[in-house]
Amino acid sequence: MIFRKVGIALTDRCTASCAMCCFRCSPGNKQVLSRDTVFDIIRQAEDIPEITSVGLSGGEAMLYPGLVLDSVREIKRANMRASLTSNGFWASDEKAAADTLCALKDAGLDSLSVSVDAYHIEYVPLDRIRHILRLCRTVNLPLSLAVGDTLKGTRAADIIKALDRDIYNTQVTVYPFYPIGAGQDLANEAFAATPFSDDWKCPFQGDLLVFADGTVYPCCSQAVYQSHLSNGSIYTDSLRELMDSYERYCLFAGLRRMGFGRLMQIAKQAGMELPDAFVSPCHLCNVLFSSADFCRAVRPHMEKEYAAVVRAALGLAAERVK
Ligand code: SF4
Ligand code: SF4
Repeated sequence: MIFRKVGIALTDRCTASCAMCCFRCSPGNKQVLSRDTVFDIIRQAEDIPEITSVGLSGGEAMLYPGLVLDSVREIKRANMRASLTSNGFWASDEKAAADTLCALKDAGLDSLSVSVDAYHIEYVPLDRIRHILRLCRTVNLPLSLAVGDTLKGTRAADIIKALDRDIYNTQVTVYPFYPIGAGQDLANEAFAATPFSDDWKCPFQGDLLVFADGTVYPCCSQAVYQSHLSNGSIYTDSLRELMDSYERYCLFAGLRRMGFGRLMQIAKQAGMELPDAFVSPCHLCNVLFSSADFCRAVRPHMEKEYAAVVRAALGLAAERVK
């Protein structure tokens, strides 16, 4: 079993419409998972012993605070870890920050991640992030900051510097933006791309994503959204079925088995035009698996690989029987 966590993007609606949002979230979007659907996902996850945590996100999940709090309580009832990712719009002053953080903590939330960068601060002023940094210490809620970096304009380091001493003892992850979704419209110089190397690997960390429209993706990277790597929907398939397919015989399983070096050879043989450089393996993954032509070209190779794996496993089983 490779999956340990289920991410649930409760909604594609957001208080912001960041220029680099891979999901193209905005205040006008309308998709929200119902309470029944979210509880069903949590209960399915509860029945899969290897799943130990559930992460809530969006869009902006805290546009629906009742749904978030109920979901956190249900995750804790199911004896799993509960985390939340938010842009922090709700922390307009220290009292508002304290009220929300206390409610989340009382519901059982184990950790909070807040996104902040050049694009987010156009919608969520840095003072709100400062309130959250200060109040998380007071209510003893573990906090991490996810800081996107751009090569143009306000960089991650500038944000960290501006937060000054408020950021002390806070876990910070700096990640590159992708030219994906709304980010496609940004100038190329905003992205830190590097030439492809044969040893690039999928940095999958054992998390599955259920998006607000019910689509289930085999990882929580923003780059997976709307690619052909999804194998189904929470409305038509069970989590268990989808996890099994992701582990064995779908495009995602093939990508993990074959590696990007081989996939690039196939893409080139298929005559696919590719950029010279990519922000990360996830960016390359998005370019390849968003292309229906590439997916068509790669499937026979993956089926051959899978047949070889099955043959090897059957051979091994026969050896054991002897
Ligand atoms: S990047 Fe985050 S805060 Fe910005 S629009 Fe997308 S979901 Fe909302
Ligand atoms: S390489 Fe693809 S499958 Fe792997 S984590 Fe990145 S987006 Fe997901």
